[in-house]
Amino acid sequence: MNKEISGNELCPCGSKKKYKRCCRKKDFTWARDEDGNICRVVSASDELIEEFHKSRKQFFDVFGRDSIQDDPLLLGKYLVSDTDYDNDLDQAMEAAGIDSAIAYACKKTGLLVSQQNINKLTDVEIEEWNDAITEFNNGSIEANPITSFITKLEANIEHLIFAYGLVLDKYANNIAPSTGPVEFMIKFHITKSMKVLRSIRLLTQNSMPDTVFALLRTMYESYIYILYALSNPKEAEEMLFATLGLDSGTYRYPLNADGSIKSKKIAIGIKSGKEVKLTINNYQVIKLTKSKSELEFYEMIYELLSKHVHPNLSVLDQCFDMNKFDHFISLHKVDGIVYTNAIAAIILEYIASNILSESILVNDVKHVVKDTRDKIINILQELDLIDGGSESRRILAQRIELFSI
Ligand SMILES: [Zn+2]
Repeated sequence: MNKEISGNELCPCGSKKKYKRCCRKKDFTWARDEDGNICRVVSASDELIEEFHKSRKQFFDVFGRDSIQDDPLLLGKYLVSDTDYDNDLDQAMEAAGIDSAIAYACKKTGLLVSQQNINKLTDVEIEEWNDAITEFNNGSIEANPITSFITKLEANIEHLIFAYGLVLDKYANNIAPSTGPVEFMIKFHITKSMKVLRSIRLLTQNSMPDTVFALLRTMYESYIYILYALSNPKEAEEMLFATLGLDSGTYRYPLNADGSIKSKKIAIGIKSGKEVKLTINNYQVIKLTKSKSELEFYEMIYELLSKHVHPNLSVLDQCFDMNKFDHFISLHKVDGIVYTNAIAAIILEYIASNILSESILVNDVKHVVKDTRDKIINILQELDLIDGGSESRRILAQRIELFSI
């Protein structure tokens, strides 16, 4: 059992006063446990007790036994890490319009002082809190502009989804393989990109930005397929019909002598015997654009995204720097959000400049693209101020400068 410390002891809060002249008048007690450790005893609210009961039940449901002492109190901690929580807290406070001084003090002290809880905190903690507020108000601390830019860019993912939705509704709705094979392929990749964006939006909202890169590669490949379909309409059409024909039985894969499939990269027409390629060479397609910036961007982004799809240890560099490997640490939240916006805008800009014809729709899409580009440039400039610039940021900036908007 915990036993309250004596009133004449030095208060454990660090005030250098006797306990009876310090924290004893607060809404908590300082106590000593069986092992002699000092602990702070705060009465739990009904809600908190309810949470613990729920968590114990959940533990039993998952592991089939009651939780014991060294088991986690709340399994929910495995769903969000402390780092994620800190990052998100920043953005949540920014989004909620919470006073910057309070946001700063909260981040610095790990406390949130209010009228309701002031009596549950020690005078030392309240002083720390007040010092942080004063420090901020004296102007010695500036709010982090990266946080504000990244919040805007994260919110912008929604704008991009709306633009994709508008394109699908107004341009692509009535396209079928039989009426326009190339257009159908493009419609397919616009739809796929929109689905990817919606997944990424949920992932970033739920603090899982690392998984974003694998999805981004799919979206970037859609861009390459759209480029391919427009520059090689004949081959793209053959590819589409061969792919559909594999299902309907008018095409088949080439076979080995023993009847096993030799390759899934080619389909053979059953009647014509004609061989049709089912995959494209990404590099060759990008090269067709004859743009140096496009090629540089391809090389940079493809390597980066592939690293995350086939993870190698270099991706984990930052974890090891921190001397602990924690799979919860979000390595690249900012990068993930920036590249998501960039690739989604690259596809939209290409569609608006090369495929769409209805002028209101073109203008709507370009408006979102321009807005996205400006927000990306803001954050790139801010990051450059911090570390003097990087090669990948230069390549990204150069690529989005190509936009014709
Ligand atoms: Zn005290």
